[in-house]
Amino acid sequence: MSSAALINTYGVRKTTLVRGEGSRLWDDRGNVYLDALSGIAVCGLGHAHPAVTRAINEQAGTLLHTSNLFNIEPQQRLAEKLCGVAGMDKAFFCNSGAEANEAAIKLARKYGNDKGVATPTIIVTENSFHGRTLATLTATGNPKVQQGFGPLLQGFVRVPFNDCAAIEKCAAENTDIVAVLVEPVQGEGGVNVPADDYLQQLRAICDRHHWLLMLDEIQTGNGRTGKFFAYQHSAIAPDVVTTAKGLGNGLPIGACLTRAGAAGVLQPGNHGSTFGGNPLACRVAETVIDTLLADGLMENADTLGRQLRAGLAEALSGDSKVVDIRGKGLMIGIELDRACGELVDQAKEKGLLINVTAANTVRLLPPLILTGAEAAEIVDTVATLIKAL
Ligand SMILES: *Cc1c(COP(=O)(O)O)cnc(C)c1O
Repeated sequence: MSSAALINTYGVRKTTLVRGEGSRLWDDRGNVYLDALSGIAVCGLGHAHPAVTRAINEQAGTLLHTSNLFNIEPQQRLAEKLCGVAGMDKAFFCNSGAEANEAAIKLARKYGNDKGVATPTIIVTENSFHGRTLATLTATGNPKVQQGFGPLLQGFVRVPFNDCAAIEKCAAENTDIVAVLVEPVQGEGGVNVPADDYLQQLRAICDRHHWLLMLDEIQTGNGRTGKFFAYQHSAIAPDVVTTAKGLGNGLPIGACLTRAGAAGVLQPGNHGSTFGGNPLACRVAETVIDTLLADGLMENADTLGRQLRAGLAEALSGDSKVVDIRGKGLMIGIELDRACGELVDQAKEKGLLINVTAANTVRLLPPLILTGAEAAEIVDTVATLIKAL
């Protein structure tokens, strides 16, 4: 089924998924798939999770929307819960990842303007992805995302990912820098994992220059890498964290979390959202966090991520097409020496949903509820297809 009434921003879509349960999805022809994509790192608890369904039903029968002109109890509870697990002070809620980054970018500019900085400037990295709004596509390090949408915004400088020397060089050349915005592991850019001490180094640089360290955890957050947030592997505290994707398990919600000097920057009237922080999305996100913690799903993501990477490394050892197998938790990339987009359809034929990003990297983002048997199934199918490529 295709529809001429849709603006064609996503190209041809061949499959219509109509039902899900746990790690499995069914299409309109009755075919079943093992989901190693989770709606792009969204459905960490899998599909039709009973606790999520219950939270939606209960809240839908109680209160859907009031606007932010009133206190919203689920929003307040979620802010406390999310700041608690994150080690952050304050939360602003919106409806998507791009919006969460917009909030962070506005916050950094206001932080600079409050200090009298003439042109507040944010350091961003090559191969990054921060969203599709004008500010976030300007921050994104991918010319394809920016092509045709000029003029882009001022106030960004770009450095290579995982390169602290380049950032120090910016500091020497530009006195208007106010913040660094990076993904702890780049997602769309190819599942790029930086050096173990990258975030610690960034923290030290930001402290030295009084810049905000802003982490885009829209894809890496909510348990995906084996900790609630990926920076928790590095034992550092950022000033600003953005998240979205996995937070609502499919209900649209984003958050911008702040700490310390960043926490007082946005004041009444500075930012807002009609839908942001609505009772339904917040109630569901609370349930998602509770379930992640109660069911040990971050630990599961860590364990099964190791199993997947080790299994793939073993099954693909000696295959010269494989450049690298990398990742953290259940965010895994298999970089090949060639473009491999056709693997997506080939895997679908075999009942497995995967993704290819940065043209040559197979990306696996299975739900955090994955079992060992399901991980073995993914290894088997993916390794067989790559060997035959
Ligand atoms: C998906 C993503 C975004 C954009 O989120 P949307 O909800 O699509 O606006 C931003 N940053 C990262 C790292 C992402 O993976």
